[in-house]
Amino acid sequence: MNHLPTFDDVIAASKRLEGHARRTPVMTSRTLDDAMDAQVFFKCENFQRMGAFKFRGAFNALSQFSPEQKRAGVVAFSSGNHAQAIALSARILGIPATIVMPRDAPKTKVDATRGYGGHVVMYDRYTEDREQIGRDLAEQHGLTLIPPYDHPHVLAGQGTTAMELFEDVGELDALFVCLGGGGLLSGCALATRALSPACRIYGVEPEAGNDGQQSFRSGQIVHIDTPNTIADGAQTQHLGQLTFPIIQRDVDDILTASDTELVECMSFLAERMKLVVEPTGCLGFAAARQMKDELRGKRIGVIISGGNVDMARFASLLIS
Ligand SMILES: *Cc1c(COP(=O)(O)O)cnc(C)c1O
Repeated sequence: MNHLPTFDDVIAASKRLEGHARRTPVMTSRTLDDAMDAQVFFKCENFQRMGAFKFRGAFNALSQFSPEQKRAGVVAFSSGNHAQAIALSARILGIPATIVMPRDAPKTKVDATRGYGGHVVMYDRYTEDREQIGRDLAEQHGLTLIPPYDHPHVLAGQGTTAMELFEDVGELDALFVCLGGGGLLSGCALATRALSPACRIYGVEPEAGNDGQQSFRSGQIVHIDTPNTIADGAQTQHLGQLTFPIIQRDVDDILTASDTELVECMSFLAERMKLVVEPTGCLGFAAARQMKDELRGKRIGVIISGGNVDMARFASLLIS
């Protein structure tokens, strides 16, 4: 393994993000603290630019492009938050962005990506391989491919989320982080080991796709089929070559949450805290609620990773 990112890379990322990323608020609920008999601090990345923490990693990566890379442009494949994060960061930095998206991606996501100035290339998710399309575009046009999680600059950028949380509230006893491919979790783990060394860190993934838990417990990266879950930001099939060793070294355990629990959390956050959170963004909170007995009297951090859910879907999930 050539060198893994460290907390110094997270600090460098936070300097690059200054004046570009929003320093998102930390929110609390007295009702919840009473119910949990603990202190819960939510780091609200649903208020980040483009609606999720992914802006941090994307901006940190693009702002380190060489002049030639900037001129040629960036390519990313994603139907979700990474696409919008790359498109917005590229626009801010004056870099052309090409985003490879499935033809059946939600119109709102395609429109949002185009709205940020991204050039969208469609593919058929049943007959074409998006990674191949991305690589071909990169090769033919000299574009730089930025993956959604397995990249040192991406995960260092994501780590600024936990760094800000510890700067704002001090040391914690436990931190719960949503887990897909592990960019957010590995970056936050680097910040946690530096700023609150005794804090227990948990990654939380959908019950239907617990490849991260299987990998963590078996000691090697486990691949699964795309899981069927409402947590569409965490439908990844495997952890990354960079994210996995950091998670193995610095994370305490990987937990899971069911779709039913995610909906209960969305409902609580909307009703009690007036927060619109997408299903994936509730993973950390769902696991913290499961551990109520062990967490009594503790100071707990929960990362709310994003709030991009269209209102019709939000409403239908809550009434289902
Ligand atoms: C991408 C994403 C995740 C998962 O992040 P990874 O870095 O892939 O683990 C969680 N929540 C939201 C809202 C996301 O967009």
